[in-house]
Amino acid sequence: MATVQLHKIKKSFGGTDVLKGVSLDIADGEFLSLVGPSGCGKSTLLRILAGLETQTSGTVSIGGRPVDGLRAADRDLAMVFQSYALYPHLTVAENIAVPLTMRRLSGAQRLPGIGPFLPGSRALRQEIATTVREAAEMLDIAHLLDRKPGQLSGGQRQRVAVGRALVREPSAFLLDEPLSNLDAKMRVHMRAEIAQLNRRLGATFVYVTHDQAEAMTMSDRIAVMMEGELLQVGTPDALYDRPADIRVAQFIGSPA
Ligand code: ADP
Ligand code: MG
Repeated sequence: MATVQLHKIKKSFGGTDVLKGVSLDIADGEFLSLVGPSGCGKSTLLRILAGLETQTSGTVSIGGRPVDGLRAADRDLAMVFQSYALYPHLTVAENIAVPLTMRRLSGAQRLPGIGPFLPGSRALRQEIATTVREAAEMLDIAHLLDRKPGQLSGGQRQRVAVGRALVREPSAFLLDEPLSNLDAKMRVHMRAEIAQLNRRLGATFVYVTHDQAEAMTMSDRIAVMMEGELLQVGTPDALYDRPADIRVAQFIGSPA
């Protein structure tokens, strides 16, 4: 079953067609990498999927339900960015808890300027603390819960950002070049961890990268994008053995 469906998505910015009719079905629990050179439209497509950007035309469905017009917070997915976007003044635990505290403080209850830590009931705070600890343990950062982001390495910060996505328990995770700010060694390490997370959680992962080696090692399927169009969607083996196009072959690195 397709969890995420993109149907004929087009997007123009000021007369420039950035996405030229992208259709893609992503199966429940699948790890799909979206690859392509810088500027080809990967982030724009992911942002449309997340509800952070509105398409010019086309439809997006999640779990069989059209979500066009639904806010990002109301879509059953969580996004992890390249820049970790952590709150510097909050601890690791508080950063991870942000989606939980925000979700419960909907509408009139949400008081601007107070931040995510309103005095909730003791039981609620306990429940949040437990969820945060579980996520942190899964990501090997449970010993860092009281630190501030400024006291962490790049790899640790990226784990906090992933932790914040985890506690939302979405059916799909969207990751936009999450490892590109890390050094090579940490990148290889985190690759394996993210792929493992996909298997453990059974959630759908849409993983944007411009690094074809990353995509080849992590993915069930890879979608190759160039200039706002998908050139080919297939398993790493299929793309390597039977590239549909010379540009796919060049990008994937298969013998032409
Ligand atoms: P990628 O993530 O593959 O590097 P992007 O989706 O970020 O590519 O960008 C695709 C194209 O759309 C680029 O030419 C970029 O300059 C343009 N673009 C992206 N966002 C905007 C925006 N908000 N306004 C105008 N142009 C944009
Ligand atoms: Mg991008």
